[in-house]
Formats: sequence, C-alpha cells, structure tokens
Amino acid sequence: MHRKGVSSAVLGVVVSLIVGTLILASAPSSLENLLKDYLKTKVEAAPPPRDRPSPSTGTTVALGCGNFPPKLSSAQADIQYGKYRDYIDQTIGELPGTAPLKAVLNPHAFVAAIATEETSFEHYNPDGSVKRGSSGEYGIMQIMPIEIEAAGKVCKDNDIVDSNKDLEDVLKNVRCGVHYLNQKLQDCGNILEDAATAYNSGRCDSSDKSYGKRVIGHYEEWKKCIKQKYLWPVLFTNSVSGYCFGDRAPESRDGIHKGIDAAGRLDDKVMAIANGIVVTVVTGCSEGDRRCGGGLGNYIKIKHDDGLYSVYSHLSKVSVQKDKKVEQGSEIGTVGNTGYSLGAHLHFEIHDKMDTSVNPCNFLDCSATKCR
Ligand SMILES: [Zn+2]
Repeated sequence: MHRKGVSSAVLGVVVSLIVGTLILASAPSSLENLLKDYLKTKVEAAPPPRDRPSPSTGTTVALGCGNFPPKLSSAQADIQYGKYRDYIDQTIGELPGTAPLKAVLNPHAFVAAIATEETSFEHYNPDGSVKRGSSGEYGIMQIMPIEIEAAGKVCKDNDIVDSNKDLEDVLKNVRCGVHYLNQKLQDCGNILEDAATAYNSGRCDSSDKSYGKRVIGHYEEWKKCIKQKYLWPVLFTNSVSGYCFGDRAPESRDGIHKGIDAAGRLDDKVMAIANGIVVTVVTGCSEGDRRCGGGLGNYIKIKHDDGLYSVYSHLSKVSVQKDKKVEQGSEIGTVGNTGYSLGAHLHFEIHDKMDTSVNPCNFLDCSATKCR
C-alpha cells in the first residue's frame, strides 16, 4: 500500500533530514524518491526481530512453507500462516467468478507475496496483531486508511470495513487487501508486476518497478509451496486442442461449447482437479457411438468441497465409482474418444453450485493455452 499519506509535519522532518544528508551526494531526484530511499534505509537499518535470526543477505527474506509472515518466530509463523491461509482462501473464494485475481496461476501465492513484501516494512506486532505503521497503514496487508487511500473505498464498497478501526481486524485486513489487489489487477490489464506496483504506488505505470519486481520474486517462492487449488486435469499437458468455453461448437446441444477441450493422447491419465465425491459415472460407451452419454461418452462428474462440480468426458476408461471420495491429483480415468468426439482429448467442464457450466479458466491455469 502506498506511503504518500505521511503527514506534512512528518514529511517536513524527513525531508529536512534527507536534504541535509543527501543534497550534496545525490543527483537530482524527486521528493518521492528521496522519501522512498529514506524509508528503505530505515527498514534496512532496523534491528532484526529478537526471536528470528537475521537474514543472511541484506534485506532478502528467507521464504518457505509455514514461514509467513517471514519475520515472526517459527511457532508464531505456523499459527499465523494457518490463520492467514484460511483468510486468503476464503476471500479469494468470495470474489466473483470472473475476478482477475482468480485467473492468476496461483492467486493465493500472489496474495502471500504482497503480504510478504508489506510485512517487510515491519508495521505489525511480533505477536501477529495489527499495528499502525508510521504512514498510517494497518496490518499485514498494510492498508492505508479510508480518508487517504483508495483501498478504503474498494473495501467500503464491498462491505468489508466501516471505519479505520475495522482495519485492525486481521480477517478484514486480509479481505480488504485482496479486494484492493484484485482491483489493481483489473486496472493494470492483469499484469502481475504492474498490479503489485500499483498496490504500492497506486499507479500501474509507475517508473519505480522495484516493489513489483520484489513481489514477483516472493510469488515465485510461494508458488513452490502453496498448492494450487485446482490442478490441470490431464497429466503432463496444459494445452487446449479444440474449443474454449463459449466458442461456437456445432456438436454442442445449443451450439455453444460448455467447457474446454484439454489436449491429451489416448489413455493419458485424467486426474481429479480437487478433493471431492463422485456424483455421476457413465460407462459402456464405445468409440464411434456419438450419442452415448448424451454426447459426452464415458464421463465422470465430481462434486468438490467448495460446492463446484467438475466433469471429465470422452474417457476411454473410468477408474472410480459413484459415491466414492477422490483426492486432488488421483487418477479417475483416461483420455479417450468416446461420445461426440473427433479425436482423443478431454472435454472438461466446471459447474457452479447451481450446476450451471462456467468458464474452467476462471479456476484452472489456462495461461499456456489459447483459452482465457
Ligand atoms: Zn469439448
């Protein structure tokens, strides 16, 4: 969250300090940059938290699973990590289906990356409770208060906060930060680095990209240890061989394609995208019988813990039974060419809680495909 909201009195002191010390040494620079440099120096010069070893290389924070926020003791971090993790997932889940944050490869890791960078400014208490930073920002997402920062409006519009006091609540703080980040992704054309930059500076095209670059670095680390909520359903591939969601498709019931056609070779493994219960199994379809399974051929439908459904069709083999529990990543069948299919592929659908088909790319990583 950006730090322009420093009171003019504080700014005056800071500026005179900076100008006093740097005026001879530095090339002409904007006030904003001077202030940033000062804040950076201040952060770098801060003593390491007493219950955590000093990072070995400057301000680089060692990341890893269960190590979030990075400067808490490990026991505290474990507790806080679990807590924040639920909050982050919960909030991402409440965003509309087409929210840009949901289209990010690993939205949870991206939010964690922002929180990692923000908590590096040390404006939180060692016990994980929320403290107000020197520029007036709150909590692990470092939300600037309503009267100063646009995030306040985003959060107010989404009924997350009523007043600045609400930002001290950890859940509301996370929710507010997630909604604000989602807004910035939309503003910045879904470009992650620009959205992170805008989270800090308010502008997608800020000339200072250092914050955005650091967040992308944290994001890459977090991706290694935060599991994607939904996996791509075909092992070893992540491409689309046919139609995307919403394409005109003559073979579909009303001419509109209700899912995506994931590429795969005959008998490639098909995996459950998330934990759930098998609610429908259709078998007995052989290749060439186009009407079998209502055109879907051999297929499986799974109901997931969050209420969504996933549908895997044209299978050559089904290896699960109705009413059985399945785990994320477990094999449920194999890629085939049964039903109305002109070659081996997986026609894959996601249905919402009302059992209406929705764009799978709102949930899966379609970034390597032509589908969006
Ligand atoms: Zn299809």
